[in-house]
Amino acid sequence: MELPFLTIKKAGELIKGKEISPVEITKALLKRIEEIDGDLNTYITVLGDSALESAERAEKEIAKGGYKGPLHGVPIALKDIFIMKDVPATCGSKMLENFIPPYSATVTQKLVDAGAVILGKNNMDEFAMGSSTETSYFGPTKNPWDTDRVPGGSSGGSAAATAASLCLGSVGTDTGGSIRQPASLCGVVGMKPTYGRVSRFGMIAFASSLDQAGPLTKTVEDSAILLNTIAGGDRRDSTCVEAPVPDYTQSLTEDLKGIKVGIPKEYFVDGMDPDVEDSAKQAIEVLRDLGAEIVEISLPHTEYAVLTYYIIAPSEASSNLARYDGVKYGYRASDTKNLIDMYKKTRAEGFGEEVKRRIMLGTYALSAGYYDAYYLKALQVRTLIKQDFDEAFKKVDAIVAPTSPETAFKIGEKTDDPIKMYLSDVLTIPCNIAGLPGISLPSGLSSTGLPIGIQVLARPFDEETMFRVAHAYEKNSGWSGKRPPV
Ligand code: GLN
Repeated sequence: MELPFLTIKKAGELIKGKEISPVEITKALLKRIEEIDGDLNTYITVLGDSALESAERAEKEIAKGGYKGPLHGVPIALKDIFIMKDVPATCGSKMLENFIPPYSATVTQKLVDAGAVILGKNNMDEFAMGSSTETSYFGPTKNPWDTDRVPGGSSGGSAAATAASLCLGSVGTDTGGSIRQPASLCGVVGMKPTYGRVSRFGMIAFASSLDQAGPLTKTVEDSAILLNTIAGGDRRDSTCVEAPVPDYTQSLTEDLKGIKVGIPKEYFVDGMDPDVEDSAKQAIEVLRDLGAEIVEISLPHTEYAVLTYYIIAPSEASSNLARYDGVKYGYRASDTKNLIDMYKKTRAEGFGEEVKRRIMLGTYALSAGYYDAYYLKALQVRTLIKQDFDEAFKKVDAIVAPTSPETAFKIGEKTDDPIKMYLSDVLTIPCNIAGLPGISLPSGLSSTGLPIGIQVLARPFDEETMFRVAHAYEKNSGWSGKRPPV
C-alpha cells in the first residue's frame, strides 16, 4: 500500500482498525518530502522529530483504546500563517524569519487535540498577498503538474503539498481566493468556510474583514472531516460565531433532487480560457443529470469586486501590518541611528515588494481627504455585492461557476504586472466580499494536461448544501483522484 496517496478518510479507518500505524504513515510522508520537496518547495518548515513523536504518542493512545476520532494519527500540514507553539511561523516573510511563537493558534490546537500529526508548515505568498506563491521570501513553490508553472496562491504550498501527496491535507487561508484558486490550479479540493465559522486566533492577520481558514484536501469528504474539527466558536476571536457545528460528513449524499443551482452569467468572463469554460459547462450538465434544477442568475456588481477588494484588503493590511516595527518581535534592522530610523530600516528591509505595495495602497486609501472617496466608497459597493448574493439566494440554494479564469500560469509570467496578477482572483473575490462559504474541486484537465476547477458557493453558514452539491458532483464527474506526474 502506498501510504502517502491515501485520503484522510481511508488513512483514519486503517489507523482505527490498526492495519497501519501513525508512525509508519508519518515516516512514509517524511521520506517522500525528503525525496521530492527540494524541487517543489511546498514546505518552509518540516517537523521531522516532533511529527514522529506525536505519531508515536497517537499509536500508544490508540493501542490503549483511547481512539479520538478520524484525525487521530493522521499527518496534516499547516500553511505557515497559523502559529504553533515553539515552531517557527514565518508567514512567508523575512520579517518573521526567526519568529518562534509562544502559543498555538486555535486551528492548530484543535488539530493537535484531535490527535492529528502536524507534519510541517507550508510555503505561501508573503503575508498571504499573492496568487502564485512567488512572493514568498523562501522562494516559489512549483506546481506538481508542471514544475515550470505556479501552484496558485497564496496557499500554494498547501495545495501543491496535498496534490503531490506530501501530506494528507493542509489548512490554508482565503482572503480573496487563496484556498480555492490554488486548489483549482493544483487539482485538489479547497474550501473557504463562512466568515465567522472558524476561529482566527493565532492566524496571522492580513485583511480582517475577509480572512478565513479552511481545508485543502484530496476529496470533499476529507474537507468535511477537517472542517468538523477546526470549526466552532472561540472566545478568543470575537468574529468567530458561537453557532452549533453540524457533522458535515452527514450532508454528503449523492443526488441533488430538489436543489436549485444558480449559474451566474457574469462569471463567464471575456478572455477566459476556453477549456475552463467548457469544463464548467460540462459540470453543469452533470449536476442537471443528478437532479439539480439549473437556473441562470445574475450578480450584476461582480465587475466591481476586484476593485472593491483592492481598496478594502490593502487598507486593512496597512493597519494590521503596522505591528511589525522591530520592537516586540520579528526582524529588526541593525546599525540604526534612532527609533524612527530603526522603524524605517526594519520595514524597508523586512518586507518584500508586494507587501510594501499593499501597505502604500492601503495607507493612501485610508488617509484624511481620501477616506470617503476610496475606503468608504468601497464599503458601500461591498454592500451592493452582498445584496446581489442575497437576491440570488432567494431563488437558488447554491451557485456554481469556474474557480479561476485560467489554468496554472508560468513562473514569472505575471510578476512584473501586479494588475494581471490581481485579476487571477476575479471569480473568487466576490465570495469573500460577501462572507459566503465556497469550495473548489477538480472539474477536468485542460488540453495541455493542467487541472481545472469549479467552485460551489452557498448561503452563509450553509456549508452543508455546499458540501452536498460538491460531493455529488465529485462522485459522478470522473475527475476526482487524478494524480500529478511527480
Ligand atoms: N490573491 C489575492 C491577494 O493577493 C488573495 C490572497 C488571499 O486570499 N490571501 O490579495
